[in-house]
Amino acid sequence: MKKLGILFLALVFAAGLGGAAWAGDTLADIKAKGVLVCGVKDSTPGFGYIDEATRELVGYDVDFCKAIAKKLGVKIEFKTVTSATRIPQLVAGNIDLAACTMTKNADRAKQIDFSITYFSTVQKFIVQKGTVKKLADLEGKKIGTAKGSTSEQNAKKALPKATIQSFDDYAPAFLALQQGKVFAITTDESILANILNKAPDKKKYEIPNIVIGYEPYGLGMRKGDTNLVNFVNKTLLDMEKSGEAKKTFNKWFGPKGKAFPMNRGDFKIDGKKEAWES
Ligand code: GLU
Repeated sequence: MKKLGILFLALVFAAGLGGAAWAGDTLADIKAKGVLVCGVKDSTPGFGYIDEATRELVGYDVDFCKAIAKKLGVKIEFKTVTSATRIPQLVAGNIDLAACTMTKNADRAKQIDFSITYFSTVQKFIVQKGTVKKLADLEGKKIGTAKGSTSEQNAKKALPKATIQSFDDYAPAFLALQQGKVFAITTDESILANILNKAPDKKKYEIPNIVIGYEPYGLGMRKGDTNLVNFVNKTLLDMEKSGEAKKTFNKWFGPKGKAFPMNRGDFKIDGKKEAWES
């Protein structure tokens, strides 16, 4: 009996360890529970935000979650994440998928897995009109951004003498710029353009053509969750083939889109690997 007890304890211990090291099969779990839990932003215009008229959570990232849930034939549930909480939320199992303007990079890929790139942009700044012509004009200044972002890291590298002030999100960072508490804010151009577009005093600011980071977005999943990664990648490629990906882009960022118009250019969901992935 004692031996059996020890064996039981050993099994429980092994299962616990296994759970921590292996993501399991989230795809099977989602199908079994009939719901996909997606982590999205709720105050990032264009990508994940509350529509003022309908009070609904909408955006490019929200639409990709919905498309994946539809393909799976399950319901969708949204949980709000920030740049700093999204990876911990995923690792803790509180969300199945993170669709939240998240740049794929080698560092993050040590903790989670990424889908193929489904959007890409570059990192820039918002400044008061006429104050910045070149990167050096930003050196030594106080610059706002969000905690847990690549924007924070890239800015520290590009401007070693600047004071990088990290807020919980980009909206309070922009407010600090409007109040004259920071000299500039920095993050992805796709986010900056949409924030500026919604600002009543937008004429006072501009986004100079100064690039300090390449930001390809991927959907985040738990490390080793291969079945889900394959399913999501296949869905993204199918969306590109059927024209749904382009339609979704244009719905938000096209000339008649709901958010700030951006150039899709030649960017397609083609499944090509980023340099660090191959
Ligand atoms: N794409 C960048 C990142 O993943 C900046 C935007 C964000 O914070 O979500 O960190």
